[in-house]
Amino acid sequence: MLLHKIRLIVVTISVIIIPCILLAQEMPRRQLHQKLARAKAERFSGLQAATVEQTQNQSDYDVTYYDIDIDIDPTTETVSGTITMVAEVLSASLSQAEINLLDNMTVSQINGTAGTLVYTHSNDMITVTLDRIYNLGESFTDIIEYSGTPNPSFEAFNFDKHDGNDMIWSFSEPFGARSWWPCKDIPSDKPDSVDIRVTVPTGLIVASNGTLRNMSSDGSTDTYWWHEKYPIATYLVSVAIHPYKTFSDWYHYSSTDSMEVQYYVFPDHYDYIQDYYAKTVPAIELFSELYGEYPFLDEKYGHAEFMWSGGMEHQTITSLGNCGEYLIVHELAHQWWGDMITCNDFHNIWMNEGFAVYSEALWTEFTYGKEMYHHEMLKSKYFGEGTVYVPDDSDYNRIFDVHLTYDKASWVLHMLRHVVGDSIFFDILHSYHDDTRYRYGTITTEQFRDVCEDVSGMQLDAFFQQWIYEEYYPNYIYQWTTNNNGGSWNIELTIEQTQTNHIFTMPIDVAVETAFGDTTLVVQNSLAVQHFSLTVNGEPTGISLDPDEWILCKVEYPTYTGFQLLQNYPNSFNLNTRIPFCVPERSFVTLQVYNVEGKLISTLTNREYSPGPHWVTWNGTNNHGQVVSSGMYFYRILAGNNIASKKMLMLR
Ligand SMILES: [Zn+2]
Repeated sequence: MLLHKIRLIVVTISVIIIPCILLAQEMPRRQLHQKLARAKAERFSGLQAATVEQTQNQSDYDVTYYDIDIDIDPTTETVSGTITMVAEVLSASLSQAEINLLDNMTVSQINGTAGTLVYTHSNDMITVTLDRIYNLGESFTDIIEYSGTPNPSFEAFNFDKHDGNDMIWSFSEPFGARSWWPCKDIPSDKPDSVDIRVTVPTGLIVASNGTLRNMSSDGSTDTYWWHEKYPIATYLVSVAIHPYKTFSDWYHYSSTDSMEVQYYVFPDHYDYIQDYYAKTVPAIELFSELYGEYPFLDEKYGHAEFMWSGGMEHQTITSLGNCGEYLIVHELAHQWWGDMITCNDFHNIWMNEGFAVYSEALWTEFTYGKEMYHHEMLKSKYFGEGTVYVPDDSDYNRIFDVHLTYDKASWVLHMLRHVVGDSIFFDILHSYHDDTRYRYGTITTEQFRDVCEDVSGMQLDAFFQQWIYEEYYPNYIYQWTTNNNGGSWNIELTIEQTQTNHIFTMPIDVAVETAFGDTTLVVQNSLAVQHFSLTVNGEPTGISLDPDEWILCKVEYPTYTGFQLLQNYPNSFNLNTRIPFCVPERSFVTLQVYNVEGKLISTLTNREYSPGPHWVTWNGTNNHGQVVSSGMYFYRILAGNNIASKKMLMLR
């Protein structure tokens, strides 16, 4: 999903055009995203956190099918009906089944295939006693009759109005399905198929997942029967209901075949929205080429307008609250990443959202050029705290953290692309799309890592560990010297990582300027301080690290000349600090650390240096390798005839 931009409020003709114009402004898009995310803080606050993960009992069965047969009454704002759940036993034996449903909904009866079943309903969980003990591999059926008004604070099932008419919409991600229909509400358990039969007052049109099997009417109510033939996560089951106006487009996936793209729009948006929706089919074409064919080709794709400010990637029928190009592209990309392959749990939500945000950048690249791609990526750089992996998946705001789940996660894919190379990167995505272990199933970070390793033949555990499970970014500082070696030039390059949390392992592009033009070399960097010897043809006149910004990093270059002793960095520090200095000519340099009593603690260097900037690192130990105590220390340099000293503070 994407909380995008502003809430659509269209009450007069004069403002109809305004929302889509605003959508083109990219910075407000992100700021508003954050603002709206905060506004949604209370959305699942009443949730029983214990039921976010599947219970032990739920891990003992696998749902294969749901029939959702409900009446929706907008006058009383109630949902009532019957849910049939068919499940297969995964444990040696099973006598009960736990099914999520919020307590404010009323269960009136539960039947099995052989008659009425005993059940309890408390702590937002139905516990059904099955009619007998079922053994491994056997299937059981629970038919649940229920009714009630879905808890409005969950905002998962909403009775709304647009232009004076009923607008009923669901939005269940991540835990909201249980607020309006009983189910095993866990993303890892996707039923093989779902029937969705919805009865509404005549005049309302129901948009939902899959294909429309039938529409029948009894004069006062209409029943829409939708069938989703592909596996679907419970949070992707949706209804959007309004006296919609509809129109279609077509995705021609071969010279003879095409798939209908169906749009359910508010009648007062019908005239202007078609130009915006015209981006959809080209985006389906692009992603089918980049990732593999659109996953629900036998059914449809479509949009149904709803009353939320952003979009939600309901399977085969995205709900949209505005018509921005990037929102359309983002939600479409989820049909591959999120819907066809779903995060196994919301700890791994980056597998949905990072891919969808990165798809926005790919759309930019293949529509507007590579330069605009990099521009798009730069907007989503995030240097703050937190891991891409969600430690607490009962925290709605943490799951949908715009910086981590969306922006940094898309940078993980941007970086992965550079680590493995362009052609292997797209091979990975095609293999991932085709992999029968995950296709129409679910995925964890480790499973995706294994796909990447299989296709690339590279070891990528360090890559995923540091970018998914650890925080922050590398802060590189570098220095270099050159010498003429006959026909070529040698570069002695030192790269230091000065961040305090952990050391990153990444290939780094090193761009070298010479009189003969620019050359880009790649160094494999994995140490706190690492030296590289490089050779180029012409005399190097400048060197830059990661010039095209393929790494989420900061790069510092010490630009100083003449004799200088600079302040250590960081200061104060915990064990490791860097002491920069510069010598104007080839000089013998001695740099030593003293304590406040003037006693020599450590000699950091004692050798000849070429002209230019250099640094040494002190790791807080004395000349015997013992860690010294916290406090003030002095460092003193003797370089040729120059002498200088400064103080520094070690805080352990
Ligand atoms: Zn999304």
